[in-house]
Amino acid sequence: MIIKPKFKNFICTTAHPEGCSKNVKEQIDYVKKLKLSNGPKKALIIGASTGYGLASRIVSTFAAGASTIGVIFAKPASETRTAGPGFYNTAAFEKEANKAGYYCKTINKDAFSKEAKDTAIELIKKDLGKIDLVIYSLASPRRVHPETGETFHSVIKPIGEIYKNKTVNFHNYKISDVEINPANKDEIQQTITVMGGDDWKLWIDSLSSAGVLSEGAVTVAYSYIGPELTYPIYRQGTIGKAKEHLEATASVLDNQLKKINGKAFVSVNKALVTQSSSAIPVVPLYISALYKIMKEKGIHEGCIEQIYRLFSDKLYGDDLRLDGNGRIRLDDLEMQEDVQKSISDIWNKITTENVAELTNIDNFKHEFFKLFGFEHSDIDYDKDVSQYVELTNHLE
Ligand code: NAD
Repeated sequence: MIIKPKFKNFICTTAHPEGCSKNVKEQIDYVKKLKLSNGPKKALIIGASTGYGLASRIVSTFAAGASTIGVIFAKPASETRTAGPGFYNTAAFEKEANKAGYYCKTINKDAFSKEAKDTAIELIKKDLGKIDLVIYSLASPRRVHPETGETFHSVIKPIGEIYKNKTVNFHNYKISDVEINPANKDEIQQTITVMGGDDWKLWIDSLSSAGVLSEGAVTVAYSYIGPELTYPIYRQGTIGKAKEHLEATASVLDNQLKKINGKAFVSVNKALVTQSSSAIPVVPLYISALYKIMKEKGIHEGCIEQIYRLFSDKLYGDDLRLDGNGRIRLDDLEMQEDVQKSISDIWNKITTENVAELTNIDNFKHEFFKLFGFEHSDIDYDKDVSQYVELTNHLE
């Protein structure tokens, strides 16, 4: 199959296996050189196939030498379709981990289901005994409730008032004004049910009752705050309400885990180009401006750099400072006053004509295509490649 990027609205519906494999190898090479003197030994990563979850699995394995179980939800390729990037990333990760002799198993099931939790517990008991780290890194538009079977949807909307701001179509660089109507009560509640801490708690409760969390086990979920300009659509919107719930869940879990001297944290990470962040209005333009400023200042980080810093300095290092709300802050550099001031200074000036000059939109677009394995200069995208790639270490 000749694999080129194809779009349905803003969603890329194709992925390139060789490009995804290269992305994974680049991340592995980055952490292999750094290593970690202290880190997890046996980790479960929920949402392990892309973005922050994949980076967490790579750091656990290739920097700390940990055995990992990854939970992903990814469809394989068919005669007419490629697999998604998460499937290709996981296949590449498994191949490299197998080659290097690290234990890794992948559960390809809906992480929200009871079945995924039962399968993980069975596998931990059989292969690992107990685990010492649980990373929760899901971003999903929907959740089927494991008990009622009801489907809940998450929406990205403001609360209370209409939100107006400028946004960019990163395919043609057109700047336009976007106007988003506020969510109703049901939409807020459904977003909390999908993206809040409910499922994280179900995971930790199930793992605890099965006795597979080791003494001192740590669990971390990822959150975001961001600048004032995105508050109405993010932190004070529906998704922000879900993140508040996730953060409140961290303190509930932290209390629960005291009996095994364990800990639960939320880590507030930096804004980065991932499939999830690209779908939020205004955010791609903000990230484009952020990348330009942070790169100019030499403080830019991607997923792998962020997660390596989380492990080396915070979770397993000596700088585990928490903010007033008990959260780890990996967004410290993004939120620096000088960085945010520079963004505010250019924000109102951005137009279709100058967006490429004032922001790093070219790089945003490039990073977006790269998520799907495209735009690697050394891959010939006119060459026929097989879309079929095997997951070697997975459980159905
Ligand atoms: P992502 O889209 O790359 O990752 C989300 C992952 O969740 C994907 O691998 C997807 O396959 C998985 N997933 C979704 N539904 C699933 C299901 N039912 N079963 C199993 N896996 C499922 O996005 P990301 O940005 O890496 O997001 C991960 C977390 O990091 C989210 O909580 C997000 O809010 C948070 N975060 C993201 C940013 C950012 O700017 N990207 C910043 C701070 C925090």
